[in-house]
Amino acid sequence: MESPIQSYLEQLLADVSGETMGTPYPIHPSGSAPDPQDFGICLATVDGYVYSVGASDKRFSIQSISKPFSYGLAMADHGIEAVDEKVDVEPSGDPFNEISLAPGTGRPANAMINAGALAVVSMIKGSGGKTAPRRIMDFYSKCAGRRLAGSKAVFDVEMRNSDRNHSLAYLLSSFGVIDDDPTRALENYLRQCSAQVTCRDLAMMAGTLANAGTNPRTGETALEIEQVERVLSVMMTSGMYDDAGSWVSSVGMPAKSGVGGGTLAVLPGQAGLAVFSPPLDAHGSSVRGVETCRRLSSDMEMHFVRAA
Ligand code: GLU
Repeated sequence: MESPIQSYLEQLLADVSGETMGTPYPIHPSGSAPDPQDFGICLATVDGYVYSVGASDKRFSIQSISKPFSYGLAMADHGIEAVDEKVDVEPSGDPFNEISLAPGTGRPANAMINAGALAVVSMIKGSGGKTAPRRIMDFYSKCAGRRLAGSKAVFDVEMRNSDRNHSLAYLLSSFGVIDDDPTRALENYLRQCSAQVTCRDLAMMAGTLANAGTNPRTGETALEIEQVERVLSVMMTSGMYDDAGSWVSSVGMPAKSGVGGGTLAVLPGQAGLAVFSPPLDAHGSSVRGVETCRRLSSDMEMHFVRAA
């Protein structure tokens, strides 16, 4: 007999499929243009079970969902305090690419906006050479429990269309927040954004955060609990671009969306959730991703106030 969770997810997928608003992000690997109809939902429990419905094995770019994971890696490399010196933990409420640096110090508001993500990536050990991109991909792979790789095609296009990110990297360098080559920091950031994942991978990555930093299937530890606590706290206040307040009110789970169409949410101690659907809303989050998380949170009492 099919499990009640599986049947519930199938019904949810069918219900939310009626939502057809939004526009997909135009940058993707050559030969794999996003299909607006693609829609997948995966739930990975901390005891290692994965429920999946729809397009759960289709690859897409992780984009901004990389930010919380690189933040975790930088803290694992240097400790939380050292990272705090460079990047604050305040919600900015700004769009992802806003030039929001603290006056005087240039400290970015948090690690979920591009300014913070660029500062974070420049701290990751090996960022001056070729080691950092490999370490970043190894780390994401450990969280996903599967070998992941970036897309050169996505990286190349993003690199040519990144005037705002180039400027941000140089601005951060002028304040000394990036003390490495700013172009290198930008390259490493865009490489991490180009990582190709599936909805199932993202659910496992979310499951690793839900399971206090240990992948529920492989048993490999990627992060310590203090680092997970910090990553999830910043995701809770700043993970959903300039829509974070409305997200916390209606969904109440730490989450991160990316323009590749992925949405990742975490129910600490219980499960990781991922949704894949390319059409995006005005904030750059997946329309169906947001709707699916809203319904799941309400139907399954996943809002942090009810889940406790
Ligand atoms: N590559 C994108 C950028 O930084 C990532 C954006 C996102 O997913 O929010 O411009």
